[in-house]
Amino acid sequence: MKHDANPMHAANAAPRCAAKSKRTGLPCKNPAVRGWKVCRMHGARGGHPPGKDHPSWQHGMRSQEWVEARAEINELLRETREIERLLKLD
Ligand SMILES: [Zn+2]
Repeated sequence: MKHDANPMHAANAAPRCAAKSKRTGLPCKNPAVRGWKVCRMHGARGGHPPGKDHPSWQHGMRSQEWVEARAEINELLRETREIERLLKLD
């Protein structure tokens, strides 16, 4: 007989839910649903699809894509201003 034949060893090694208790701050400990970071009690398989299929979608200017694009542009502008500031000091 194989030494590691107990199927519960694999079950106990499953990834755990990432949720924390509001009251105690302790982790949930339930196994996470496959493909999710949380267990079935903490929102796995729930909610609306993200993006254009979300019922609250209006114009897309607050979409993840646009928010990231704006952040990149702002970072470039910040760097440009810093370079300008350094050039003026000399
Ligand atoms: Zn959980």
